[in-house]
Amino acid sequence: KQGLTKTSSRLADGVAGIFTGKRRLDDDALEELEEVLISADLGPAMAARMVAELAKNKFDKEISDLEVREAFAAHVTSVLEPVAKPIAVDRTRKPHIVLVVGVNGSGKTTTIGKLAKHYSEQGLTVMLAAGDTFRAAAVEQLKVWGERTNCPVIAKETGADAASLAFDAIQQAKEQNVDLLLIDTAGRLHNKTGLMQELQKVVRVIGKQDPDAPHDTIMVLDATTGQNAVQQVSVFGDMVKVTGLVLTKLDGTAKGGVMVALADRFGLPVHCIGVGEQADDLRAFTANDFARGLMG
Ligand code: GDP
Repeated sequence: KQGLTKTSSRLADGVAGIFTGKRRLDDDALEELEEVLISADLGPAMAARMVAELAKNKFDKEISDLEVREAFAAHVTSVLEPVAKPIAVDRTRKPHIVLVVGVNGSGKTTTIGKLAKHYSEQGLTVMLAAGDTFRAAAVEQLKVWGERTNCPVIAKETGADAASLAFDAIQQAKEQNVDLLLIDTAGRLHNKTGLMQELQKVVRVIGKQDPDAPHDTIMVLDATTGQNAVQQVSVFGDMVKVTGLVLTKLDGTAKGGVMVALADRFGLPVHCIGVGEQADDLRAFTANDFARGLMG
């Protein structure tokens, strides 16, 4: 359900491989466990802490692989619980403005489409803004999602100013009494200075129309990039005030443990997760389900 099959088989098989039946938890076992955690992208800091916690209670004792996985799942749950938060859409804002940022290919446009479907089904009116004005394909793709979900898409010609597109979208959202406006953005990391200037201008223009907006700035991350996702949050965090995360492509990767590294490092809310390319492949993010899914 959480799309974690590949990650959980890496972790569960890894732990089971170390503990055939029961084994005394010695230094070698701890080291091997730490490697398994790192191989599933939980990150070195988190892996070290999980192993230390296990050693605190069980060092030199006989322990089974099931007990290890239970202990890890409990630890991961405690790290994820504080960050598991859906987007708090405020329907009195008309519109509640969500800026969606992230590296090209991370799944921004797809996530916007999935969110559009989800919130439309909840009875909200949703509008989409094709703020990645540079890539014709990105604009076209968002239009397809608009048709699929029956949500209007505000777009301009290729190369148009992203901030003025955002401005127009907010005007139209106000006129049409829209509940939720989802604004796509560019993600050209090879031109960091240009991207930063563009995103900051978009944020400024949005803020001029509503001083509290954007109400959410959500960063979309591709789980298949593993620890790179951690780096990406730092880079984007220097450009804009990221307020929440969505982790995508958990279905196709054994690196789903990066969720734990992200939660541990940044403590940013995780709103939902992407587990496929289709409109329905968006899941609520629940700490316990995710932790259990991760540890098999
Ligand atoms: P953007 O450049 O950030 O807007 O990324 P896109 O939304 O265009 O997504 C890039 C590719 O990843 C597309 O082929 C999507 O279908 C695919 N994709 C997006 N989310 C997911 C997901 O959760 N799982 C899988 N397997 N593929 C995804």
